[in-house]
Amino acid sequence: MNRNGGKPHIYLDHSATTPVAPEVLAAMQPFFSETFGNPASIHAFGRAAAGALDEAHLVVGCAINARASEVVFTGCGSEADNMALRGIALAQRKNGRGGHLVIARAEHHAVETTAEQLRDLFGFDVQFIPVDGCGQVNPDDIAAAIRKDTALVSVMLANNEVGSLNEVSAIGKICKECGVPLHTDAVQAPAYLPLDVNELNCDALSMSSHKIYGPKGVGVLYLREGTPFVPTLTGGGHERGRRAGTVNVAGAVGTAAAIKYVSREREAQAVRLVALRDGLTAGVQASVPQAMLSGHPRQRLPHHASFVFKNVDGESLLMALDVEGIAVSTGSACTSGDPEPSSVLVAMGVPREWALGGLRVTLGYGTTQADVDAFLAVLPKCVERVRKAAEWKG
Ligand code: PLP
Repeated sequence: MNRNGGKPHIYLDHSATTPVAPEVLAAMQPFFSETFGNPASIHAFGRAAAGALDEAHLVVGCAINARASEVVFTGCGSEADNMALRGIALAQRKNGRGGHLVIARAEHHAVETTAEQLRDLFGFDVQFIPVDGCGQVNPDDIAAAIRKDTALVSVMLANNEVGSLNEVSAIGKICKECGVPLHTDAVQAPAYLPLDVNELNCDALSMSSHKIYGPKGVGVLYLREGTPFVPTLTGGGHERGRRAGTVNVAGAVGTAAAIKYVSREREAQAVRLVALRDGLTAGVQASVPQAMLSGHPRQRLPHHASFVFKNVDGESLLMALDVEGIAVSTGSACTSGDPEPSSVLVAMGVPREWALGGLRVTLGYGTTQADVDAFLAVLPKCVERVRKAAEWKG
């Protein structure tokens, strides 16, 4: 439980963002003041910053079984997704390797809209692969879609809205056999699942620091050595020529500290959170009529519960819970305020009268049984209130 403006507030929206862990903040602090040099400068101030940046590359690389040189710090997870899609697709075209992109449905908007832009402005032939009712991609559908001119496949590891996991390792194996690079958006995963880029068989992978108890405004793109890539942020030769711009040293150091923190904590937290989450899910289904879990019941992130409620406006429910001091989300944080049903739920085939009532409840390392109980105590009356208000409005 947190205090938010003096009012007790329970935060159950950890897929939107997480608080910075104290050890992460402590690791970052010197890089705002005493070690402030530009890592591209060759004098002592610059060398001190460059040393810390090298170490951050190494730590992040080790955490995902990659080389330090394969890690690129970016401005956020969205930027890592943009760089992967645009950077690989344009490089493949430059090398005469085709213009067909295979992109899963239900991806984060950072992937989906980048793919649409590559189609609409750059003439790529983008094939969207449907997901099933749990929001998962069938690897056989990826195998069937790959052609001689396929330049890139992108399939997310864990869905931000419904928490379902994809079989990225199997998809990566298929891509490898066909010689097609695979990108995976793993932004939601590292706080709960260990990541190994070789086990995942991926060539590019996106992460975001603020989802793993690190700072906002820092992301990571893992780019396997030899993967065709052109920089999309051009200018200086920072990050080995893959992203121009003076690197956010404090952010990179914070990301390294965050990945160390989650690597240490996640196993125990995953066990603890699955138990809390399963209790929450059972509690919702027992106390709210016409409520369904969305996403896969088991193959999902340990901290993630998501529901659809029939004839409920998700935004109104979110506000009713907020009044009660509980912070949740209607789906992905980036689309709240959008009156249309979530594109992820639509892609999963959820009927409109259910899809408009999507709710995402994501627990975190600090969540307790008391927080879950407080949520379950107020949810049924909030749903009832919102349903009544809608009846009244007609
Ligand atoms: N990809 C996924 C799956 C996400 O959940 C998010 C954020 O919600 C992003 C990408 C974007 O990350 P960032 O907020 O760092 O841009």
